[in-house]
Amino acid sequence: MLFIDFSRCCERLEGTKGRLEMIDIVSREIPDLSDEELPIFVRFIMGRIFPDWSSQKLGIGPNLLYEAVRNVTGLQKSEVIDTINRTGDVGKAVEELLAVKTQTSLSAHPLELAEVYAGLTGIAAREGRTSQKEKIRAVMVLLNDARPLEGRYLARIMLEELRIGVGEGSVREAVAKAFSVDSALVEHAMQVLNDLGEVARLAKKGPSALSEVRLTPFHPVRMMLAQQGTIAEMIADHGAVAAEFKYDGSRFQFHKKGNWARMYSRRLEDVTGALPDVIQQLLTATDHDLIIDGEVIAVENDRPLPFQSVLRRFRRKHGIAEAQEAIRLIPNVFDILYLDGETLIDLPFSERRKKLEYAVRFFVAPQVVSDNADVIDATYKKALDAGHEGIMLKVPDSPYTPGLRGKNWIKIKPAVDTLDLAVIGADWGEGKRAHLFGSFLLACQSEGKLLPLSRVATGFSDEQLAEVYDLLKDTVISTLEKEVRFEPTLVFEVGYSEIQTSPTYDAGFALRFPRFIRIRDDKDIADIETLEGIRERYRRQLNNNGSRS
Ligand code: AMP
Repeated sequence: MLFIDFSRCCERLEGTKGRLEMIDIVSREIPDLSDEELPIFVRFIMGRIFPDWSSQKLGIGPNLLYEAVRNVTGLQKSEVIDTINRTGDVGKAVEELLAVKTQTSLSAHPLELAEVYAGLTGIAAREGRTSQKEKIRAVMVLLNDARPLEGRYLARIMLEELRIGVGEGSVREAVAKAFSVDSALVEHAMQVLNDLGEVARLAKKGPSALSEVRLTPFHPVRMMLAQQGTIAEMIADHGAVAAEFKYDGSRFQFHKKGNWARMYSRRLEDVTGALPDVIQQLLTATDHDLIIDGEVIAVENDRPLPFQSVLRRFRRKHGIAEAQEAIRLIPNVFDILYLDGETLIDLPFSERRKKLEYAVRFFVAPQVVSDNADVIDATYKKALDAGHEGIMLKVPDSPYTPGLRGKNWIKIKPAVDTLDLAVIGADWGEGKRAHLFGSFLLACQSEGKLLPLSRVATGFSDEQLAEVYDLLKDTVISTLEKEVRFEPTLVFEVGYSEIQTSPTYDAGFALRFPRFIRIRDDKDIADIETLEGIRERYRRQLNNNGSRS
């Protein structure tokens, strides 16, 4: 497939609003692709480059991209930045700028989809001191051959934000439709393989290839997630449920095969290097090949420390030995997904639990199974007394469903209303904070799009504002007077007193008294609150207010 044909397909999708129509467009492109092109197309169309399980990163921020565009077009940096600010979109800006270049250049050859992928893989592989310059040069090679429309999508793919509104769900449906296979089979295979590109290749082979998928050590899968609920509802719906402490730390997935072990964060980043002490503890606890799921907590005098202490350790790149001395980390293991070659996720939780207890000697989270609300209540009180966040209730006969926030895991914790939202923009601060970002624009998600919902300007310490500035400064996409826009990478947890309907924000809602609680850098943009979730909270709030008055 030529990259220009891929770009035209993106352009068509960008002009399409209806989900069914989008699925139709994608499903018509897919069958003609070669085995090599199919996974690339499927990932690119979702704005991704590498399989989701891969920790490979392109490592191209907006600044590096602007520099490459400037070199290719021969324009001044200020002209590039002005165009980006005027269009408000890096992709459209690159398209416009390349149009100027195209009038003077004759050397371009038609780019192939696979060639673009090979170019990007090469860029990702460059490491070390000279890598920035080499990356710029490699981006220039691609941009040099790109026609303006290709430039639009190439730039967006490089920043991993395609903005054509095609979410993973739509692409799954399109794959199912293109090869006439059951979409539930496609979804299950995606949960196991964590790469829709590879799933599409198997779908092309047929349903039996899809149903034979197995987990592979060192290909992390998404974490199963929890919903809110109540003890009474869980017991009424399921009878006996399994209760465990809800540890307030950082989620991990630990993979071991032979003498080789790696640990992944909730965002599936490889954090092995940062956590040698945790790895060591887990290696003493098992002799098996396995994939286990758990939560690392920090402790001092046997009491859990606040969750930030753990996150700091997950993020650490230097001074790891000193950090180990300062903060003691302990893993708590609560699930097993794979054991000695066998994929376990489709087994009931009660069966997996037996395998977990068999395979792992220490650090297995204690569990109480009961249909008696008083017993579960007592576990909840014990959890809070011991300084944990609350409890998790799990349905004993439920499978492990990677990435799903279903009703098989319910979290019970003291009521505080907080939301996890993406930071998409900010205003510069004032007075002594003029060199930092001040008020932040936050967004929720809906079908692959980010919708502004609120601003947050209170709740930050000077130290936190400086930390946030550091995390965001290289992700600025555009600036307009006092306002900047970011490539969405960071998640804030914010508190609020009420959700209100609002014409000001695209989400149609706004937060009353929003207050910064903490950075959630264990969460991805894909993990932020959905518009549906906000609507649900709004409905619940109306009901509660109604019953109070
Ligand atoms: P939340 O982040 O509030 O949606 O709560 C779900 C998170 O609680 C999971 O992603 C885990 O990181 C964490 N957690 C702590 N203890 C447990 C447990 N026993 N079982 C499952 N998740 C747990």
